[in-house]
Amino acid sequence: MRTNKYAGLCADCGVIVAIAAGWLIGLPGAWRTICPGCQPKPPARADHPGWHEVPLASLDFETTGVDPLTDRVLSFALLDDRGHDYTGLIDPGVEIPPGSVAVHGLTAESLRGAPAPAEALVEVIAWVQDLIDRGVGLVVFNAAYDLTMLRAEADRWGLGQPDWHRLLVVDPFVIDWGIERGALGPRRLTDVAAYYSVTLDNAHDAGADARAAREIAYEIGRRQPTIAAGTLDDLMGWQRYWFAERAEDWNRYAATAGRSLDDPQGWPLARTTVTAARTA
Ligand SMILES: [Zn+2]
Repeated sequence: MRTNKYAGLCADCGVIVAIAAGWLIGLPGAWRTICPGCQPKPPARADHPGWHEVPLASLDFETTGVDPLTDRVLSFALLDDRGHDYTGLIDPGVEIPPGSVAVHGLTAESLRGAPAPAEALVEVIAWVQDLIDRGVGLVVFNAAYDLTMLRAEADRWGLGQPDWHRLLVVDPFVIDWGIERGALGPRRLTDVAAYYSVTLDNAHDAGADARAAREIAYEIGRRQPTIAAGTLDDLMGWQRYWFAERAEDWNRYAATAGRSLDDPQGWPLARTTVTAARTA
């Protein structure tokens, strides 16, 4: 959740909330301010079986920008299900916009001498294919962005694609929307991590983001028995459904606000003709 930019009254209890003393919740175009005492909290952890009890892998990229079809991967973190973490840098061979450097701190100079995209990404793709072959679930926060970019990079550099249709994705961004229906305001990785009391000290470091995303997935499983109860195959279907609902919800607002529309069919990979998610 995000702190309130303006002073106002708590939408729940009516108390006066000073600037940045409370939180902003609500749907796009209809934010509401709430006081810390009325701040929504997730359900407590409980002991029930589910997919969260099986180790998951996790992936995150830092990139040159927000368009998965044209932007490039600069760093990657691959956390496997057996306790091995692989991280790496890529020299993209293109300019890195200052706005992106400001997010993650990766400059062209700092990446000089790192492997070229094709060399590094062929390993990333092999790692994803190994998860697919072993039926291991892969956590990706806002998968429609990272996975669409990986597919575009593979095309760009003439690398083979993994068997995307068999990949089991666990996307805490989408699951969180399915639970909260967007009612808690902006829900980027830092927002959702704070909500679930998951530590994220070094946001926009690929390794830190991948660890936090996986921890959020486990916390959702521990606290949401009905969502934990399905198989990862069931969860794939539910996430497609939630993503479509979220896109339709966004599009109703976007159409009136003159913003760009999302593709309801764009999870976990965007259809190539459509520009994917805005939320990196
Ligand atoms: Zn209140």
